[in-house]
Amino acid sequence: MLGLFSLPKILFTIAVIVAVWYGFKWFNRRSQVQQHRADEVGRGAASAAKAPDVEEMVLCPDCGAYVAKGGGHRCT
Ligand SMILES: [Zn+2]
Repeated sequence: MLGLFSLPKILFTIAVIVAVWYGFKWFNRRSQVQQHRADEVGRGAASAAKAPDVEEMVLCPDCGAYVAKGGGHRCT
């Protein structure tokens, strides 16, 4: 029985298990960092994309309607 699981094989198996374990840890940390970065980028993009949506409304002096500042408003 011991001959089937000789010391080099056991050591090799342990080495493979440890390598896979550390590989998983490294992969998880890497994906977490990437997720964190993606969240930050997404947040930045969301706030950057949100800014153009909010347009300042100004009172048209001619017709008294609130229109988007800089928008092509023409009194009818
Ligand atoms: Zn107007």
